[in-house]
Amino acid sequence: MDFPFLYGAQYYRDPTPERRYWAEDLRLMAVSGFNAVKFWAQWRWAHREPERLQFDELDVLMDLAAEQGLGVTINVIFDVAPTWLYERYPDALMVKADGSPIFPYACACRQIGGCPGPCFNHAAAREARRTFLEALVSRYAHHPAMQMWDVWNEPEQVGTMYRMPKPETLTCYCPLCHARFVTWLQARYRTLEGLNAVWGRCYTRWDDVELPQSPQTFTDMVDWRLFMLDTLAEEARWRIALTKAIDAQHPVYLHPACSTLSGFNPVTGIDDFLMAEGCDCFGGTTGGVPFSTVQCLSSAQGRVCYNVESHLRAGSTNMYPRHLTVREFTDNFVPQIGLGIRGFLHWQFRAETLGLEAPGWGLLDVDGSQGDTFRGAVEFWQRVAPAAERLAALQPEQAEAAIVRSTPNEILHWCMHQDFSELRESLAGYTTLLYDKNVRFQFLDDRQVTMGVPGHIKLLIVPALYGMTAPVANALATWVRQGGTLWCEAHTGGYNLTSGRHETTLPGLGLAEAFGLREVQATAVNHLGISQPEALTNALPADVLTAMRRYHADVGGPTISLQVGGVPLYGRGRYTEMHGEDMEALAALPGHAPCIVRKQIGRGCVYYLGIHAGSMCKDGGNPGLDRLLEIAMSSASIPATAERWSGVPDGVRIDRLVTPQGDALTLFNRLSSSVDLELETAMPLSGLFTAQWHCRDSALCIHLEPGQAELCVPQAWLDAWRVTELTTQPAAQTAAGSAASILR
Ligand SMILES: [Zn+2]
Repeated sequence: MDFPFLYGAQYYRDPTPERRYWAEDLRLMAVSGFNAVKFWAQWRWAHREPERLQFDELDVLMDLAAEQGLGVTINVIFDVAPTWLYERYPDALMVKADGSPIFPYACACRQIGGCPGPCFNHAAAREARRTFLEALVSRYAHHPAMQMWDVWNEPEQVGTMYRMPKPETLTCYCPLCHARFVTWLQARYRTLEGLNAVWGRCYTRWDDVELPQSPQTFTDMVDWRLFMLDTLAEEARWRIALTKAIDAQHPVYLHPACSTLSGFNPVTGIDDFLMAEGCDCFGGTTGGVPFSTVQCLSSAQGRVCYNVESHLRAGSTNMYPRHLTVREFTDNFVPQIGLGIRGFLHWQFRAETLGLEAPGWGLLDVDGSQGDTFRGAVEFWQRVAPAAERLAALQPEQAEAAIVRSTPNEILHWCMHQDFSELRESLAGYTTLLYDKNVRFQFLDDRQVTMGVPGHIKLLIVPALYGMTAPVANALATWVRQGGTLWCEAHTGGYNLTSGRHETTLPGLGLAEAFGLREVQATAVNHLGISQPEALTNALPADVLTAMRRYHADVGGPTISLQVGGVPLYGRGRYTEMHGEDMEALAALPGHAPCIVRKQIGRGCVYYLGIHAGSMCKDGGNPGLDRLLEIAMSSASIPATAERWSGVPDGVRIDRLVTPQGDALTLFNRLSSSVDLELETAMPLSGLFTAQWHCRDSALCIHLEPGQAELCVPQAWLDAWRVTELTTQPAAQTAAGSAASILR
C-alpha cells in the first residue's frame, strides 16, 4: 500500500460548499501542489429512503478530483442517521440514564441533523449502516481518484451535545445494551458469584444486574464505560473489515479527536488505542505538540500517522478566524513532523457558511479570495514538497521514556471528580517536561504495560494512577526488578480495579511488598494546615498564585512546597510520607519522615513522590520537579538536552528523523527568547524555511525566534529533487515548479 506524505484539505460536507465552486476550487488545490482532498459521505444525505441511495454530489466531486490528479479520502459519517431509520426502528434511539431517548438533533458541526445516530447495539440499524457502506465502497473502490478510506470521523458515543460526561446523560440504557452488557460481564467475571464479589452485590440471577447510574460506586461504573468502549471498538472493526473486504487496494483508517480529556474522553468517547486495531494507517485531529500529537502517534502503535484535521483557522460567528502566514503553519506542523506525523489535511478549504461555525475554517478567505492564509498554506507546502517523498518514509527515533495512560484509571478519575481537569493537567505537565527536555517518549496503555513494557523504554512515569488492575501492578513490579526506572505518585494503586476494593496498604496491589516501600501518614495536603508563604514568593503561574492566595489561609491549602536540590517542588491534593528499608530520602517537610524517596529494587529503581506534582507544572512553574526529573533521567541513562546537543538549552526541541540517505532534523524554539544554535551534523543540511545553510562543513548554524520551528534536510535531497523536477516538469506550471524557483 502507498502511504505518501499527504498535503491537502477537507473540502465537502453536504451541503457546503455549493456546487458552483467545486471545479475551480479543486483546480486551485491541484495547481497549488496539494496531493490530497477529503470529501464526507454522510449517511443521512445519501440514504434518503431505505432502498434508495444517491451519490450524485460525490460522483461529480470524485470525477473533478480525478481530472485534477488529486487523491481523495472519503470520510464515512454515520452519526447523521436518516429519518426513515427511526420510523422503521423506533427502538434504535439511544437512551440516557434517566430513561429518556435521545431524539435526532442537528448541531453546528452536523447541520443536516440525525445526530448522534442509533444505538450501536441495534442489529437492524447496523445492517442499515452496512448497506450504505457496502454501496459506498463498491462505488468508488476502483475510481481513479480514490486514495484512502477514513471510516470514522472523531468517534464518540453521543456527539457534541453530551460530550462532557454527566451521570444523567450517559448512554446507552436501552434494553439491547443492557442485555449486551450482561453478556460482557459474564465473559469478564464468568460466574455471578465472581461479579457479586467485585461489585459488592447480592444478585441471585444475571437478570438482576442493574445498569450503573452513579459514578460513586466505582467498579460497576468503570465496567459499564469499558463495555461502551468495547462496543465502539467493535463497531470500528466491522467498518474497517467490510471496507477492506471490498477494497483491498486503498488504505483504511479512522481518525479520533485525540483523547486529551479536555473534550474528548473515555467516558463518552473511545479508547484511542483500541480503535487503531485493524487500521492500515492512522489519523488524528491533532492540535500541535506535544500532548495531542503524542497521543495520536502512541495510539497509532507504529502505523503511519496523519493529522487529517488541522484546525489552525478555527473561528465562529462570534469570533472571526485569524489570518495566518507561513510562519504559523510552519511552527505548528514542523514539530508534528518531528514527532512522526506524515502529512496534513486542513479543516477546511472554503470557509463555512452554515450556522455558528461560519465564517471559520477556510484556507480561502470568506469571500473566496486567496488571502494571507491561503498563500501561507501554499508556501508551506512548496517548501516541504521537495523533501516530502523522503519524509514519508522517515522514522523518528525510538522512545526511551513512556507515560502510562490507563483508561480504567481515567474513568475512575471521572467517577471521583466528575471532571478530568486535574488528571489532564498532570498528563500535560509531564508531557511538556519530557518534550522540553528533548526526551523521546510515548504513551503506553494498560494492555501494553501488561504485555510487557517495550525494551527500549528506560523510564516509565505513572502519573496519578489511583486505580490499578492486578496485571498492571505485576507487570510494573517485574519491569522494575529487570532494570526499569519507575516514577510514581502518592496513593498509587489506592483502588484495586481487579478486586473492587480500596487497598489498605499503599502502594496497593502488592507493590508495597514488591518495592519494600510503604505509605505512612497518608492524607490530603489541605489537612497539613500549612500556609507556605514561601511558595508565594516563587515563580508560580499567575493563576496558581491567585488560587493559593485565595485559598491558602489558616486551614491549609491544597498545595505543598518541598525542596529538591535547593529549589522548590510543588505538589497538590495528595500527601504521604514513606517508610522502608534502604530507601534514599530526596525531600521531606521539616520535622517529617521523607515524602519523596528513591530505592534500588533488583536491577531497577523506583522514584516515589508522596505528592501529585505533574499537575503543578504550568508554564515551567515547578523547578523542583524539573530537577527531580533530571535526576531520574540520569538514573535511567537518558541524556539531558545539553548532553544530546551541545550548547542547546531545555525548551529548544530537536527531533532527528532517521533515513538511510541521511537524517533530517526538526527544530522548535519554545523559549520566550530567540536562540542561536550551532549543531554538529553528519552531512550538510539546509533549513527549508529560514534558508540558513551550513557555516562550516560539519555545523549547522541557525537563528530561531521565540516559537519558531524549522525543518532541516540534507542538502543532497534538494539537489536531487531539483534535477528531477526541472528535467521532468514544465516548471512554471506546477506548485512543485514554484518550489523549484524558491530553492533556486
Ligand atoms: Zn442501546
